[in-house]
Amino acid sequence: MPAKPKVLIAGAGLGGLTAALASLKHGFDVELFEQAPVLGEVGAGVQISPSGFRVMDALGLKAKILEACFNPVGRETVVWNTGYRTSSPIRSSEVIARYGHPHVTMHRADLHAILVEAVNARSPGAIHVDARTCGFEQTANGVTVRLADGRAVAGDVLVGADGLHSAVRRQLIGPSKPQFTGGVAWRGIIPMERLPADVRSTYGQNWMGPNGHIVVYPIRRGELINVVAHVNRDDWQIESWTELGTRQEMAADFPGWHPTIHTLIDNIDKPYKWALFLHPTLTSWSEGRVTLLGDACHPTLPYMASGANMAIEDGYVLARCLGHSAPDFAAALKRYEALRIPRTTDIVNASAANLPRYRHPDLAHPESAKKYVDSESIDQKSSREWLFTYDATTVAI
Ligand SMILES: Cc1cc2nc3c(=O)[nH]c(=O)nc-3n(C[C@H](O)[C@H](O)[C@H](O)COP(=O)(O)OP(=O)(O)OC[C@H]3O[C@@H](n4cnc5c(N)ncnc54)[C@H](O)[C@@H]3O)c2cc1C
Repeated sequence: MPAKPKVLIAGAGLGGLTAALASLKHGFDVELFEQAPVLGEVGAGVQISPSGFRVMDALGLKAKILEACFNPVGRETVVWNTGYRTSSPIRSSEVIARYGHPHVTMHRADLHAILVEAVNARSPGAIHVDARTCGFEQTANGVTVRLADGRAVAGDVLVGADGLHSAVRRQLIGPSKPQFTGGVAWRGIIPMERLPADVRSTYGQNWMGPNGHIVVYPIRRGELINVVAHVNRDDWQIESWTELGTRQEMAADFPGWHPTIHTLIDNIDKPYKWALFLHPTLTSWSEGRVTLLGDACHPTLPYMASGANMAIEDGYVLARCLGHSAPDFAAALKRYEALRIPRTTDIVNASAANLPRYRHPDLAHPESAKKYVDSESIDQKSSREWLFTYDATTVAI
Protein backbone atom coordinates (compact mmCIF):
# COMPACT_ATOMS: atom_id res chain seq x y z
CA MET A 1 0.00 0.00 0.00
CA PRO A 2 1.41 3.47 -0.83
CA ALA A 3 2.35 5.60 2.19
CA LYS A 4 -0.29 8.09 3.28
CA PRO A 5 0.52 11.76 2.59
CA LYS A 6 2.06 13.43 5.61
CA VAL A 7 0.94 16.72 7.19
CA LEU A 8 3.62 18.44 9.29
CA ILE A 9 2.30 20.84 11.92
CA ALA A 10 4.38 23.40 13.82
CA GLY A 11 2.74 24.07 17.20
CA ALA A 12 0.53 21.81 19.34
CA GLY A 13 -1.87 24.50 20.61
CA LEU A 14 -5.64 24.36 20.24
CA GLY A 15 -5.49 25.04 16.47
CA GLY A 16 -2.58 22.69 15.66
CA LEU A 17 -4.13 19.81 17.59
CA THR A 18 -7.52 20.28 15.93
CA ALA A 19 -5.85 20.33 12.51
CA ALA A 20 -3.93 17.16 13.45
CA LEU A 21 -7.02 15.30 14.56
CA ALA A 22 -9.07 16.39 11.55
CA SER A 23 -6.21 15.46 9.18
CA LEU A 24 -5.92 11.99 10.77
CA LYS A 25 -9.67 11.60 10.34
CA HIS A 26 -9.34 12.52 6.66
CA GLY A 27 -6.73 9.80 6.05
CA PHE A 28 -3.40 11.63 6.45
CA ASP A 29 -0.35 10.86 8.51
CA VAL A 30 0.52 13.67 10.91
CA GLU A 31 3.57 14.84 12.82
CA LEU A 32 3.31 17.76 15.25
CA PHE A 33 6.30 19.74 16.53
CA GLU A 34 5.76 21.63 19.79
CA GLN A 35 8.45 23.89 21.22
CA ALA A 36 7.46 23.35 24.86
CA PRO A 37 9.27 20.55 26.71
CA VAL A 38 5.99 19.39 28.26
CA LEU A 39 2.52 19.51 26.70
CA GLY A 40 0.12 21.83 28.46
CA GLU A 41 -1.69 25.13 28.38
CA VAL A 42 -1.64 28.38 30.30
CA GLY A 43 -3.99 28.76 33.26
CA ALA A 44 -6.83 30.60 31.61
CA GLY A 45 -10.37 30.13 30.43
CA VAL A 46 -11.67 29.89 26.91
CA GLN A 47 -15.20 30.11 25.54
CA ILE A 48 -16.14 27.53 22.93
CA SER A 49 -19.00 28.88 20.87
CA PRO A 50 -21.45 26.76 18.86
CA SER A 51 -19.24 27.01 15.74
CA GLY A 52 -16.21 25.61 17.62
CA PHE A 53 -18.33 23.05 19.45
CA ARG A 54 -19.70 21.81 16.08
CA VAL A 55 -16.13 20.89 15.10
CA MET A 56 -15.49 19.16 18.42
CA ASP A 57 -18.68 17.15 17.89
CA ALA A 58 -17.54 16.13 14.37
CA LEU A 59 -14.24 14.98 15.90
CA GLY A 60 -16.10 12.75 18.37
CA LEU A 61 -15.22 14.88 21.42
CA LYS A 62 -18.65 16.17 22.45
CA ALA A 63 -19.08 13.89 25.48
CA LYS A 64 -15.57 14.57 26.80
CA ILE A 65 -16.04 18.30 26.46
CA LEU A 66 -19.41 18.28 28.17
CA GLU A 67 -17.82 16.36 31.05
CA ALA A 68 -15.01 18.90 31.48
CA CYS A 69 -16.66 22.24 30.68
CA PHE A 70 -19.18 24.53 32.32
CA ASN A 71 -22.40 25.28 30.46
CA PRO A 72 -23.53 28.65 31.87
CA VAL A 73 -27.24 29.16 32.50
CA GLY A 74 -26.90 32.16 30.21
CA ARG A 75 -24.93 35.32 29.39
CA GLU A 76 -25.67 38.66 30.96
CA THR A 77 -24.31 42.18 30.86
CA VAL A 78 -23.81 43.91 34.19
CA VAL A 79 -23.26 47.60 35.02
CA TRP A 80 -19.73 48.12 36.37
CA ASN A 81 -20.50 50.07 39.57
CA THR A 82 -24.16 49.42 40.46
CA GLY A 83 -24.15 45.71 39.62
CA TYR A 84 -27.42 46.10 37.64
CA ARG A 85 -27.91 42.93 35.60
CA THR A 86 -29.61 43.14 32.23
CA SER A 87 -33.29 42.25 32.10
CA SER A 88 -32.70 40.26 28.88
CA PRO A 89 -29.90 37.73 29.37
CA ILE A 90 -29.07 35.28 26.57
CA ARG A 91 -30.24 31.89 27.85
CA SER A 92 -28.15 28.81 27.06
CA SER A 93 -31.29 26.82 26.31
CA GLU A 94 -32.09 29.35 23.54
CA VAL A 95 -28.54 29.03 22.15
CA ILE A 96 -28.77 25.23 21.98
CA ALA A 97 -32.26 25.35 20.43
CA ARG A 98 -31.15 27.88 17.82
CA TYR A 99 -27.64 26.66 16.89
CA GLY A 100 -27.79 22.97 17.80
CA HIS A 101 -24.75 23.27 20.10
CA PRO A 102 -23.98 25.00 23.40
CA HIS A 103 -21.71 27.96 24.09
CA VAL A 104 -19.52 26.52 26.84
CA THR A 105 -16.69 27.81 29.02
CA MET A 106 -13.59 25.73 29.76
CA HIS A 107 -10.17 25.71 31.32
CA ARG A 108 -7.81 25.86 28.34
CA ALA A 109 -5.73 23.04 29.85
CA ASP A 110 -8.80 20.76 29.93
CA LEU A 111 -9.60 21.35 26.25
CA HIS A 112 -5.93 20.96 25.35
CA ALA A 113 -5.68 17.65 27.28
CA ILE A 114 -8.78 16.28 25.52
CA LEU A 115 -7.28 17.10 22.10
CA VAL A 116 -3.85 15.65 23.02
CA GLU A 117 -5.47 12.42 24.25
CA ALA A 118 -7.48 12.12 21.03
CA VAL A 119 -4.42 12.65 18.79
CA ASN A 120 -2.38 10.15 20.84
CA ALA A 121 -5.16 7.58 20.62
CA ARG A 122 -5.30 7.81 16.82
CA SER A 123 -1.59 8.20 16.21
CA PRO A 124 0.70 7.42 19.15
CA GLY A 125 4.01 9.25 18.82
CA ALA A 126 2.68 11.89 16.40
CA ILE A 127 3.35 14.74 18.85
CA HIS A 128 6.99 15.70 19.42
CA VAL A 129 7.79 18.00 22.35
CA ASP A 130 10.93 20.07 22.77
CA ALA A 131 10.79 20.49 19.00
CA ARG A 132 11.00 24.14 18.03
CA THR A 133 10.41 24.89 14.37
CA CYS A 134 12.86 27.43 13.00
CA GLY A 135 12.24 27.27 9.25
CA PHE A 136 11.36 25.19 6.19
CA GLU A 137 12.36 24.40 2.60
CA GLN A 138 9.95 23.36 -0.09
CA THR A 139 10.19 21.98 -3.63
CA ALA A 140 7.52 20.93 -6.14
CA ASN A 141 7.57 17.45 -4.56
CA GLY A 142 7.60 18.06 -0.84
CA VAL A 143 8.40 20.25 2.14
CA THR A 144 10.94 19.87 4.94
CA VAL A 145 10.58 21.47 8.35
CA ARG A 146 13.77 22.46 10.17
CA LEU A 147 13.90 22.16 13.96
CA ALA A 148 16.12 24.14 16.31
CA ASP A 149 18.02 21.00 17.39
CA GLY A 150 19.20 20.45 13.80
CA ARG A 151 16.68 17.80 12.78
CA ALA A 152 14.89 18.09 9.43
CA VAL A 153 11.62 16.22 8.80
CA ALA A 154 10.07 15.76 5.35
CA GLY A 155 6.38 15.71 4.51
CA ASP A 156 3.81 16.76 1.94
CA VAL A 157 2.36 19.86 3.64
CA LEU A 158 3.53 22.17 6.43
CA VAL A 159 1.04 24.02 8.64
CA GLY A 160 2.31 26.87 10.80
CA ALA A 161 0.06 26.62 13.87
CA ASP A 162 2.77 28.18 16.01
CA GLY A 163 0.77 31.10 17.37
CA LEU A 164 1.26 34.83 17.60
CA HIS A 165 5.04 34.84 17.19
CA SER A 166 5.02 32.18 14.44
CA ALA A 167 8.36 31.17 12.93
CA VAL A 168 6.60 29.77 9.85
CA ARG A 169 4.78 33.06 9.31
CA ARG A 170 8.03 35.00 9.67
CA GLN A 171 9.63 33.03 6.81
CA LEU A 172 6.48 32.95 4.66
CA ILE A 173 5.28 36.55 5.00
CA GLY A 174 7.53 38.45 7.41
CA PRO A 175 6.73 39.58 10.94
CA SER A 176 3.38 41.14 11.80
CA LYS A 177 3.41 44.91 12.50
CA PRO A 178 0.89 45.30 15.31
CA GLN A 179 -0.51 48.54 16.66
CA PHE A 180 -0.99 48.99 20.42
CA THR A 181 -4.67 49.58 21.27
CA GLY A 182 -4.12 51.43 24.54
CA GLY A 183 -5.68 48.54 26.41
CA VAL A 184 -4.52 45.85 28.80
CA ALA A 185 -6.28 42.58 29.77
CA TRP A 186 -5.76 41.12 33.22
CA ARG A 187 -6.63 37.48 33.72
CA GLY A 188 -6.84 35.13 36.66
CA ILE A 189 -8.52 32.00 37.96
CA ILE A 190 -10.14 31.52 41.38
CA PRO A 191 -11.37 28.33 43.11
CA MET A 192 -15.14 28.75 43.39
CA GLU A 193 -15.20 27.45 46.98
CA ARG A 194 -13.06 30.39 48.06
CA LEU A 195 -15.74 32.93 47.09
CA PRO A 196 -18.72 34.10 49.17
CA ALA A 197 -22.10 32.94 47.86
CA ASP A 198 -23.19 36.40 46.66
CA VAL A 199 -20.17 36.66 44.35
CA ARG A 200 -20.65 33.26 42.71
CA SER A 201 -22.67 33.18 39.50
CA THR A 202 -23.82 30.46 37.14
CA TYR A 203 -23.92 32.98 34.28
CA GLY A 204 -21.24 34.15 31.90
CA GLN A 205 -21.05 37.86 32.73
CA ASN A 206 -19.75 40.89 30.89
CA TRP A 207 -19.40 43.80 33.33
CA MET A 208 -19.28 47.02 31.31
CA GLY A 209 -17.89 50.39 32.37
CA PRO A 210 -16.84 53.58 30.59
CA ASN A 211 -13.11 52.75 30.91
CA GLY A 212 -13.06 49.00 30.99
CA HIS A 213 -15.01 45.74 30.84
CA ILE A 214 -14.63 42.53 32.81
CA VAL A 215 -15.61 39.08 31.58
CA VAL A 216 -16.36 36.56 34.35
CA TYR A 217 -17.42 32.94 33.90
CA PRO A 218 -17.18 29.59 35.70
CA ILE A 219 -15.08 26.82 34.13
CA ARG A 220 -14.26 23.16 34.94
CA ARG A 221 -17.79 22.05 35.94
CA GLY A 222 -18.09 25.23 38.03
CA GLU A 223 -15.11 24.42 40.26
CA LEU A 224 -13.22 27.53 39.13
CA ILE A 225 -14.06 31.08 38.05
CA ASN A 226 -12.21 32.76 35.20
CA VAL A 227 -11.77 36.55 35.16
CA VAL A 228 -10.55 38.60 32.20
CA ALA A 229 -10.48 42.30 33.08
CA HIS A 230 -9.91 44.83 30.28
CA VAL A 231 -8.89 48.40 30.99
CA ASN A 232 -7.75 51.47 29.04
CA ARG A 233 -4.11 51.91 29.97
CA ASP A 234 -1.08 52.82 27.88
CA ASP A 235 1.90 52.55 30.22
CA TRP A 236 2.51 48.87 29.70
CA GLN A 237 2.93 47.20 26.30
CA ILE A 238 4.04 43.55 26.39
CA GLU A 239 2.03 41.09 24.26
CA SER A 240 2.44 37.94 26.36
CA TRP A 241 0.31 35.41 28.19
CA THR A 242 2.80 34.88 30.99
CA GLU A 243 3.62 38.32 32.48
CA LEU A 244 2.69 38.36 36.15
CA GLY A 245 1.34 41.48 37.86
CA THR A 246 0.06 41.98 41.38
CA ARG A 247 -3.45 42.08 42.90
CA GLN A 248 -2.76 45.62 44.12
CA GLU A 249 -1.90 46.81 40.63
CA MET A 250 -4.93 45.05 39.18
CA ALA A 251 -7.28 46.51 41.83
CA ALA A 252 -5.84 49.99 41.20
CA ASP A 253 -6.90 49.67 37.53
CA PHE A 254 -10.58 49.37 38.58
CA PRO A 255 -11.37 52.20 41.05
CA GLY A 256 -15.05 52.56 41.88
CA TRP A 257 -16.03 49.16 40.45
CA HIS A 258 -18.62 47.07 42.30
CA PRO A 259 -17.51 45.20 45.47
CA THR A 260 -18.10 41.88 43.63
CA ILE A 261 -15.31 42.78 41.22
CA HIS A 262 -12.95 43.70 44.05
CA THR A 263 -13.75 40.46 45.90
CA LEU A 264 -12.87 38.58 42.72
CA ILE A 265 -9.60 40.49 42.30
CA ASP A 266 -8.67 39.95 45.98
CA ASN A 267 -9.01 36.19 45.49
CA ILE A 268 -6.87 35.78 42.37
CA ASP A 269 -3.59 34.04 43.26
CA LYS A 270 -1.71 34.98 40.09
CA PRO A 271 -2.94 37.96 38.09
CA TYR A 272 -1.42 37.96 34.58
CA LYS A 273 -1.46 40.97 32.28
CA TRP A 274 -1.52 41.13 28.51
CA ALA A 275 -1.19 44.29 26.40
CA LEU A 276 -3.66 44.23 23.53
CA PHE A 277 -2.48 44.84 19.97
CA LEU A 278 -4.35 45.12 16.70
CA HIS A 279 -2.67 43.08 13.96
CA PRO A 280 -3.32 43.94 10.30
CA THR A 281 -5.34 41.25 8.49
CA LEU A 282 -3.70 39.31 5.64
CA THR A 283 -4.90 38.83 2.07
CA SER A 284 -2.89 35.60 1.62
CA TRP A 285 -1.18 33.17 4.00
CA SER A 286 -0.23 30.12 1.90
CA GLU A 287 2.53 29.47 -0.58
CA GLY A 288 2.92 26.15 -2.37
CA ARG A 289 2.82 23.44 0.29
CA VAL A 290 3.04 25.74 3.30
CA THR A 291 0.18 27.45 5.10
CA LEU A 292 -0.78 28.98 8.46
CA LEU A 293 -3.69 28.77 10.86
CA GLY A 294 -5.00 30.40 14.03
CA ASP A 295 -3.08 33.21 15.71
CA ALA A 296 -0.19 32.69 13.28
CA CYS A 297 -2.26 34.30 10.51
CA HIS A 298 -5.24 36.12 12.08
CA PRO A 299 -4.55 37.14 15.69
CA THR A 300 -7.53 39.03 17.03
CA LEU A 301 -8.52 41.28 19.87
CA PRO A 302 -10.48 39.13 22.33
CA TYR A 303 -13.73 41.18 22.14
CA MET A 304 -15.69 38.41 20.39
CA ALA A 305 -14.07 35.53 22.37
CA SER A 306 -13.32 33.94 19.00
CA GLY A 307 -9.55 33.44 18.60
CA ALA A 308 -9.60 29.78 19.62
CA ASN A 309 -12.86 29.14 17.79
CA MET A 310 -11.32 30.49 14.58
CA ALA A 311 -8.22 28.30 15.02
CA ILE A 312 -10.49 25.27 15.57
CA GLU A 313 -12.60 26.07 12.48
CA ASP A 314 -9.40 26.60 10.45
CA GLY A 315 -8.07 23.17 11.44
CA TYR A 316 -11.19 21.38 10.29
CA VAL A 317 -11.65 23.27 7.01
CA LEU A 318 -7.95 22.77 6.21
CA ALA A 319 -8.20 18.99 6.65
CA ARG A 320 -11.32 18.87 4.49
CA CYS A 321 -9.56 20.85 1.72
CA LEU A 322 -6.54 18.53 1.89
CA GLY A 323 -8.83 15.50 1.70
CA HIS A 324 -10.70 17.00 -1.25
CA SER A 325 -7.74 18.07 -3.42
CA ALA A 326 -4.86 15.69 -2.53
CA PRO A 327 -2.39 15.13 -4.09
CA ASP A 328 -2.62 18.71 -5.42
CA PHE A 329 -1.66 20.21 -2.06
CA ALA A 330 -0.98 23.72 -3.37
CA ALA A 331 -4.53 23.85 -4.75
CA ALA A 332 -5.90 22.50 -1.44
CA LEU A 333 -4.12 25.25 0.52
CA LYS A 334 -5.31 27.99 -1.83
CA ARG A 335 -8.87 26.76 -1.44
CA TYR A 336 -8.49 26.63 2.35
CA GLU A 337 -7.18 30.17 2.39
CA ALA A 338 -9.93 31.44 0.09
CA LEU A 339 -12.55 29.91 2.39
CA ARG A 340 -11.06 31.15 5.63
CA ILE A 341 -9.81 34.66 4.89
CA PRO A 342 -13.27 36.29 4.55
CA ARG A 343 -14.61 34.64 7.71
CA THR A 344 -11.58 35.37 9.89
CA THR A 345 -11.23 38.95 8.57
CA ASP A 346 -14.88 39.62 9.46
CA ILE A 347 -14.29 38.31 13.00
CA VAL A 348 -11.06 40.28 13.51
CA ASN A 349 -12.80 43.47 12.32
CA ALA A 350 -15.95 42.85 14.35
CA SER A 351 -13.85 42.22 17.48
CA ALA A 352 -12.09 45.57 17.06
CA ALA A 353 -15.44 47.29 16.42
CA ASN A 354 -16.80 45.91 19.71
CA LEU A 355 -14.46 48.00 21.84
CA PRO A 356 -16.45 51.28 21.71
CA ARG A 357 -19.63 49.26 22.41
CA TYR A 358 -18.05 47.88 25.57
CA ARG A 359 -16.82 51.31 26.77
CA HIS A 360 -19.85 53.42 25.91
CA PRO A 361 -20.18 56.87 27.61
CA ASP A 362 -23.77 55.99 28.66
CA LEU A 363 -22.20 53.55 31.12
CA ALA A 364 -20.96 56.45 33.24
CA HIS A 365 -24.40 57.26 34.73
CA PRO A 366 -26.57 54.64 36.50
CA GLU A 367 -29.84 55.42 34.66
CA SER A 368 -28.39 55.59 31.15
CA ALA A 369 -26.17 52.58 31.97
CA LYS A 370 -29.23 50.48 32.81
CA LYS A 371 -30.87 51.29 29.50
CA TYR A 372 -27.60 50.75 27.67
CA VAL A 373 -26.89 47.23 29.00
CA ASP A 374 -30.49 46.19 28.28
CA SER A 375 -30.26 47.31 24.65
CA GLU A 376 -26.73 45.93 24.36
CA SER A 377 -27.91 42.46 25.40
CA ILE A 378 -30.61 42.48 22.73
CA ASP A 379 -28.09 43.64 20.10
CA GLN A 380 -25.72 40.85 21.08
CA LYS A 381 -28.35 38.19 20.45
CA SER A 382 -28.77 39.25 16.82
CA SER A 383 -25.16 40.21 16.12
CA ARG A 384 -23.89 36.71 17.02
CA GLU A 385 -26.09 34.97 14.41
CA TRP A 386 -23.45 34.91 11.63
CA LEU A 387 -20.77 33.92 14.14
CA PHE A 388 -22.56 30.90 15.56
CA THR A 389 -24.24 29.50 12.42
CA TYR A 390 -20.96 28.95 10.55
CA ASP A 391 -20.39 25.24 9.97
CA ALA A 392 -16.76 24.25 9.28
CA THR A 393 -17.88 20.65 8.83
CA THR A 394 -20.17 21.34 5.85
CA VAL A 395 -19.04 24.65 4.29
CA ALA A 396 -18.73 24.00 0.52
CA ILE A 397 -15.13 23.06 -0.40
C1 LIG B 1 -7.17 37.56 27.24
C2 LIG B 1 -7.56 36.59 26.15
C3 LIG B 1 -8.76 35.91 26.23
C4 LIG B 1 -9.14 35.03 25.21
N1 LIG B 1 -10.34 34.39 25.30
C5 LIG B 1 -10.75 33.62 24.26
C6 LIG B 1 -12.03 32.98 24.28
O1 LIG B 1 -12.78 33.06 25.24
N2 LIG B 1 -12.41 32.25 23.18
C7 LIG B 1 -11.60 32.12 22.11
O2 LIG B 1 -12.01 31.48 21.12
N3 LIG B 1 -10.35 32.67 22.08
C8 LIG B 1 -9.92 33.41 23.11
N4 LIG B 1 -8.68 34.00 23.07
C9 LIG B 1 -7.82 33.79 21.89
C10 LIG B 1 -7.24 32.40 21.80
O3 LIG B 1 -6.67 32.06 23.03
C11 LIG B 1 -6.19 32.25 20.69
O4 LIG B 1 -6.68 32.88 19.54
C12 LIG B 1 -5.93 30.76 20.39
O5 LIG B 1 -5.29 30.15 21.48
C13 LIG B 1 -5.08 30.56 19.13
O6 LIG B 1 -4.76 29.20 18.98
P1 LIG B 1 -3.47 28.76 18.15
O7 LIG B 1 -3.47 27.28 18.17
O8 LIG B 1 -3.44 29.47 16.84
O9 LIG B 1 -2.23 29.35 18.96
P2 LIG B 1 -1.69 29.00 20.39
O10 LIG B 1 -2.79 28.52 21.27
O11 LIG B 1 -0.88 30.17 20.81
O12 LIG B 1 -0.72 27.75 20.15
C14 LIG B 1 0.52 27.87 19.49
C15 LIG B 1 1.41 26.71 19.91
O13 LIG B 1 2.60 26.74 19.14
C16 LIG B 1 3.72 26.59 20.00
N5 LIG B 1 4.86 27.25 19.33
C17 LIG B 1 5.13 28.55 19.23
N6 LIG B 1 6.23 28.77 18.49
C18 LIG B 1 6.67 27.54 18.11
C19 LIG B 1 7.76 27.09 17.30
N7 LIG B 1 8.63 27.95 16.74
N8 LIG B 1 7.91 25.77 17.10
C20 LIG B 1 7.02 24.88 17.66
N9 LIG B 1 5.99 25.24 18.43
C21 LIG B 1 5.80 26.56 18.63
C22 LIG B 1 3.30 27.21 21.30
O14 LIG B 1 4.08 26.73 22.38
C23 LIG B 1 1.84 26.78 21.38
O15 LIG B 1 1.70 25.51 21.95
C24 LIG B 1 -8.28 34.84 24.08
C25 LIG B 1 -7.05 35.51 24.04
C26 LIG B 1 -6.70 36.39 25.04
C27 LIG B 1 -5.40 37.12 24.96
